[in-house]
Amino acid sequence: AAPCPRMSAPDGEQCNPAHVLFDTFLRANECEEVLGSFRALCGHLGLEHTGQLCFYHKLKACLNYWSAKALWSKLDKKAGHKDYDQGRACANTKCLIIGAGPCGLRTAIELAFLGARVVVVEKRDSFSRNNVLHLWPFTIHDLRALGAKKFYGRFCTGSLDHISIRQLQLILLKVALLLGVEIHTSVEFKGFLPPAAKASGRGGGWRAALRPNSSPVGQYVFDVLISAGGGKFVPEGFKRKETRGKLAIGITTNFVNHHSRAEVEVPEISGVARIYKQQFFQNLYKKTGIDLENIVYYKDDTHYFVMTAKKQSLLKMGVILEDKSDTESLLSSENVNREALLSYAKEAASFSTNYQLPKMEFALNHQNLPDVDMFDFTCMNRSENAALVYEHSGAQLLIGLVGDCLVEPFWPLGTGVARGFLAAFDAAWMVKRWAAGTPPLEVLAERESIYQHLSQTSADNTNKNISQYSIDPTTRYPNINLNSIKPNQVRDQYLTGMVE
Ligand code: FAD
Repeated sequence: AAPCPRMSAPDGEQCNPAHVLFDTFLRANECEEVLGSFRALCGHLGLEHTGQLCFYHKLKACLNYWSAKALWSKLDKKAGHKDYDQGRACANTKCLIIGAGPCGLRTAIELAFLGARVVVVEKRDSFSRNNVLHLWPFTIHDLRALGAKKFYGRFCTGSLDHISIRQLQLILLKVALLLGVEIHTSVEFKGFLPPAAKASGRGGGWRAALRPNSSPVGQYVFDVLISAGGGKFVPEGFKRKETRGKLAIGITTNFVNHHSRAEVEVPEISGVARIYKQQFFQNLYKKTGIDLENIVYYKDDTHYFVMTAKKQSLLKMGVILEDKSDTESLLSSENVNREALLSYAKEAASFSTNYQLPKMEFALNHQNLPDVDMFDFTCMNRSENAALVYEHSGAQLLIGLVGDCLVEPFWPLGTGVARGFLAAFDAAWMVKRWAAGTPPLEVLAERESIYQHLSQTSADNTNKNISQYSIDPTTRYPNINLNSIKPNQVRDQYLTGMVE
C-alpha cells in the first residue's frame, strides 16, 4: 500500500483511503484536479453524484472523521437555515446555470441548499484568472461560513480582504460539488430550446443547445435558467443599458509570488487614488513618464497590480501607437506595442512598491503569455431587467441573470463579487418564490423591485449585521420595498410563443 500522507492525524487514526482521497480533493489546486479527485472519491465510496442535496447527506455518512466533520458542521449550519426548509423549498425545481465563474457557482450553492437539482455548464476547462478581487466584509463572512479556510488555508488571513479569481472559483467549485451540484466543463451554452410538444404547466420541456452537442446535458430538462456567463454573455431577450463615463484605461498585471521573506514584507496598496496622493503620482510621472489615476497592489498566488493609466502617457511611452477616437480601435492589439505595455506595467509596479519586490517575473496567463492586460472600462453595461419568463407549449422557463452579465462591475471597488453575490442570493430567493407556486408576474415584479437597489449598494449602505444575511433580501437591504414594482409593470417580461 502507498504510504499514508496523514500520519499526523490525531488520536492515532488509521490511514483510510477514503480520507486520503477526501484530503486530496480538499487541497486540489486546479479545476481538473478538483473534478478528478472528486470523481475518484465518489467512485471509491460507490456514491452516485446525483445533482441534489441528498448526495451531501450520503457523503457525510461515509466520511465521519475529524477533518471532514469540521467542514460538515459548517455546511450543516448553513443548510439548517429556515429559508431552505430542510432542502424542500425547491425540491422539484431543475436549474441550469451558465458559467462556473464566482457568481454562477455561488448561485449554484444556494440553489442546492434549497434542494433544487442544479447543473452548471462552463465553456472553459481550467480556472486561470490570477487577478485578485477585493472582498467586502459580508463576502468574507459568507465564504468563511462555507468553509473557505478548509479548502484554502490562506483565505483572508489577518486583515487581508481579497482573493484571486481562480482561488475563489476553486473554493466555490468544491462546495458546490459536495452539495450535489453537477459541473460540466468544456461545455458551451449556445441557446435554449423550447419544448417540442405541449407540456403541462411548469414542468418539463426546456432544454439547452450546447457545444459539443454530444454533451449529456443536452438531454437535461429544466424550468429555471440562470445566466452567469460574465460581462460578454447575455441570453436572448435581455436588453443592455450602457453608462458612459470619461475615458478609463485599466491595466492589470501579475508577477510570480515566491513567498520569500522579502516579498512578504512589501506592503500591499489597497487603493491609492490620485486625489489623495498627489505627490506619489507626480513623483511617478517625473521619474518614469508613467501617468496614473490610481493603483492597487494585492498579494495572493501572485503579486497583482491594477491601475488606471492616462491615455497621453500611454501614447508618449509608445504603448498605444496611434491616437484614435473610438476606444475599441485605440486599444486593439494592432494599435498596442505589447513589449512597451509590459515595461510600462512593470515599471509602475516597481515604483509603487519602492523597488522592494526582488525578482519581478511575469506570471503567465492561460495562453502561456506574460499576464498583462489592458482594457477599457469607459462604458459599463447593465441589463435593463434581472429576469424574464418564457412560455412555450404550456411550459414556463424562468431566466435570471447574476454577476457581471447582470451588472458589469467597477473593478477598483471590487463590486463584481460583492454585488455579484448579492444578486446570486436575490436570484435564489426568486427561484424559491417560483418553486412555491407564486404567480410568474409577481415573481418578476418582486425580482425587479429588488434589482433596483443593486447598483447603489455599497458596504456602507447594506445592513450591518452581516452574520444574519440570507437569501431573504430584507436581511441585506435596509428598508427595502419588495412591491415597488407592480406585476402589471413587468408584463412585457413574460414572453409567450416567441422562441422557435
Ligand atoms: P465571470 O467570472 O466572468 O465568469 C463567467 C464564466 O462563464 C466564465 O468562466 C466563462 O468561461 C463562462 N461562460 C461564458 N459564456 C459561457 C457560455 N456560453 N457557456 C458556458 N460558459 C460560459 N474584477 C476585479 O475586481 N478585478 C480584476 O482584476 C478583474 N479581472 C478580470 C479579468 C478577466 C479576464 C475577467 C473576465 C474578469 C475580471 N474581473 C475582475 C471581473 C470579475 O472576475 C468578476 O466580477 C467576477 O469574477 C464575477 O463574475 P461572474 O461570475 O459574473 O463572471
